[in-house]
Amino acid sequence: MLVVMHHEADDADVRRVISAINEMGYEARSIPGKQRTAIGLIGNDGKVDSGRLEALPGVVQVIHVTQPYKQVSREWRPESTVIELKNGTRIGGDDVVLMAGPCSVESPEQIAEIAHRLRESGVTILRGGAFKPRTSPYSFQGLGVRGLELLATAREATGMAVVTEALEPDMVDVVAEHADIIQIGARNMQNYPLLRRAGQSGKPVLLKRGLAATIKELLLSAEYILAEGNDQVILCERGVRSFDHHTRNLLDLTAIPVVKSLSHLPIIADPSHGTGLRSKVVPMARAAVAAGADGLMIEVHPDPDRALSDGAQSLYPEQFEELMGQVRVIAEAIGRTLVPPLAGRVPA
Ligand code: PEP
Ligand code: MN
Repeated sequence: MLVVMHHEADDADVRRVISAINEMGYEARSIPGKQRTAIGLIGNDGKVDSGRLEALPGVVQVIHVTQPYKQVSREWRPESTVIELKNGTRIGGDDVVLMAGPCSVESPEQIAEIAHRLRESGVTILRGGAFKPRTSPYSFQGLGVRGLELLATAREATGMAVVTEALEPDMVDVVAEHADIIQIGARNMQNYPLLRRAGQSGKPVLLKRGLAATIKELLLSAEYILAEGNDQVILCERGVRSFDHHTRNLLDLTAIPVVKSLSHLPIIADPSHGTGLRSKVVPMARAAVAAGADGLMIEVHPDPDRALSDGAQSLYPEQFEELMGQVRVIAEAIGRTLVPPLAGRVPA
């Protein structure tokens, strides 16, 4: 439930509403906005008597949020959420943001080389898995904490922000220590203890859509993170299971405009896992930006043919550079801008 205040309501009016909500046994959360001040009532509000709140001075309206996801919805916050990272990258505003890097961190040389190349191409966020969720227990599982350290070194050297996956609740703190964004992978989208823990970390979280999850389930999973007081969530469409085997997954580009209308959270697309095939990544990346994605996550490897995971879907650095030029044109055609490069702003 949302209590919308009159634009002339003063601090005392707001405090009175918050105390009334607290007296009713609920938590109150103020929602700053350019258009209006609102106070959200957190919890199952099915039985709340809204009359008491409506009668308070300064209150314009009490809105029952109709969606099951509350804080994630646009009803709760009409303005789009913009997440600003320490290196100045803004996700969810006018800029189209690029997160790129190898599927897995493999060695100091590999991650350093690709980080520098991607920075030169204008990328501001480096991706790379240290803890890998592999289908087979015999496949490369990632370098673990050593991988996180290598990512942190690359961050120091380039000024890029780092996004990497936390596979289990107990690893969230160590990932948060080394990364700027905690990734929750598709297989863990409904791992509720992990979502809660990521919410408590206070760090931006990249939440990937589950392999067979509906958009509603994705938004409800995001709600777990916001319910812990962390509204810095970036959603990611990375393809869902399909009956067709020409691609690894079915990249659901419709999810982008659908999520944009239902939620204020930013949404990016991952055409690498979405297609599984290098030759399909570039066209789908272009399409995702045209569909309104706030960014892209792309796997790029200095030597994809020797990659320890997901080589077949990893771009060669030159292919990625060409894609950047195309993304710039598409972004501008729809009134957006490509994220400004770090060069000139952040020393390498
Ligand atoms: C990844 O980003 O490397 C990854 C494992 O992605 P997903 O969870 O979407 O499969
Ligand atoms: Mn991968």
